[in-house]
Amino acid sequence: MNTLNADLHCHSTASDGVLAPADVVRRAHANGVDLLALTDHDELLGLPEAAATAAGLGLRFVPGVEISVSWLDQTIHIVGLAVDPANAALAAGLRQVRDGRDGRAARIAGELERIGIGGALEGALRYVGNPALISRAHFARFLVEAGAARNVHEVFLHYLARGKPGYVEHVWATLDEALGWIKGAGGVAVIAHPGRYRLSHAEMDIFFEKFRELGGDAVEVSCGAHDGGQLLAFARMARRFGLLASRASDFHGPADSPVDLGRAPPLPPDLTPVWSKLI
Ligand code: AMP
Ligand code: MN
Ligand code: MN
Ligand code: MN
Repeated sequence: MNTLNADLHCHSTASDGVLAPADVVRRAHANGVDLLALTDHDELLGLPEAAATAAGLGLRFVPGVEISVSWLDQTIHIVGLAVDPANAALAAGLRQVRDGRDGRAARIAGELERIGIGGALEGALRYVGNPALISRAHFARFLVEAGAARNVHEVFLHYLARGKPGYVEHVWATLDEALGWIKGAGGVAVIAHPGRYRLSHAEMDIFFEKFRELGGDAVEVSCGAHDGGQLLAFARMARRFGLLASRASDFHGPADSPVDLGRAPPLPPDLTPVWSKLI
């Protein structure tokens, strides 16, 4: 079970990925992925195209989503797997989260203008594939084009991250809402890339506890954002909190992502993979 090549978190042009949903699926298939979830930010739009392409290739496909959540003063991402894309409450909840993005994008552009980088909203919009979904990744691509940094990774070291120019505070969904939408749509809830959150050990424990309490199922142990130490640390958290383990590239595009589709490290063999619930 742990040797299946599962990749349960990636992005298409329906959010801030650079490949169309069909091309994400074709690339995953070419990379030897056996089980794929497309998990665009706050959006289900890419799922029909991805599912149809996967069916044509004989690749097992899981409809997913990555929901933006505010918890304490942090942005946390919760992946929903095997959600019913036709669920009305999920669709309405995601629409509400997406709707906040336009005003935030205007504020980001305003902040960049203040440090002398003009035209950022128009510039970012040129990289947007889905007008309902503008993300910091689109601003990052514009900032590379404008010569502000050499690549997307470096943009986030100097801009768009908390404490840097171009960052604005924003309130996303609550953890209760995100879990409610995912569970209500028949899905499995997964903590995305926990190694990225600036939480103390005590806060991380409280967060995992709360996630469990709300019916959360799994945590990304192996993911593109984790180094080897973080993989081991979150494997221990999965054991302590009795959570299933997920494996995720968080692929956004060939030039944007350190880990390609299907290439995240294997899970420690004693953990129960989240796909035991999916296949
Ligand atoms: P948003 O949901 O608009 O806040 O945008 C978050 C997205 O920005 C993430 O999903 C990534 O695509 C991208 N991002 C955030 N931090 C980084 C980083 N350090 N390096 C590369 N991409 C990042
Ligand atoms: Mn993204
Ligand atoms: Mn994320
Ligand atoms: Mn992601």
